[in-house]
Amino acid sequence: MRIGLGYDLHRLVTGRKLMIGGVEIPFERGLLGHSDADVLAHAVADALLGGIGLPDIGQLFPDTDPLWKDASGETILRRVTQLTREAGWAVSNLDAVLIAEQPKLVPHKPAIRARLAELLGVGPEHVNLKAKTAEGIGVIGAGEAIAAHVVVLLKRTD
Ligand code: MG
Repeated sequence: MRIGLGYDLHRLVTGRKLMIGGVEIPFERGLLGHSDADVLAHAVADALLGGIGLPDIGQLFPDTDPLWKDASGETILRRVTQLTREAGWAVSNLDAVLIAEQPKLVPHKPAIRARLAELLGVGPEHVNLKAKTAEGIGVIGAGEAIAAHVVVLLKRTD
């Protein structure tokens, strides 16, 4: 077995869609960054890459490369899932923590969990998701950013 850890943070700004784990969340602001700035998809992709011993998404999918310039979090995660499979690893389980002061993410947890499981090609019972606030502290607590922490356990497929 192998373990991988991923982390990401993006700033919340007006005039952007809010994408989390491949799900569009209704909110008056969205995350700023590379393509859709899907903070959870990015953290999951980095966790998988860490587990299989590859560089992070910033190195593998640079936004300076025309091929990846506008790649959504979902596209990157699908590619990383494929790389994981090709390397002979499968997701045993994945656990994620989302930290956001707003919007409240708890009502969206089932949809995000189902979408992530679909993108990873596993059943939803292999994916767990927690949503927390930052208790009003720091940039996340001020509602200026959303962060995601992800840990994934991988098992050999051969
Ligand atoms: Mg990111």
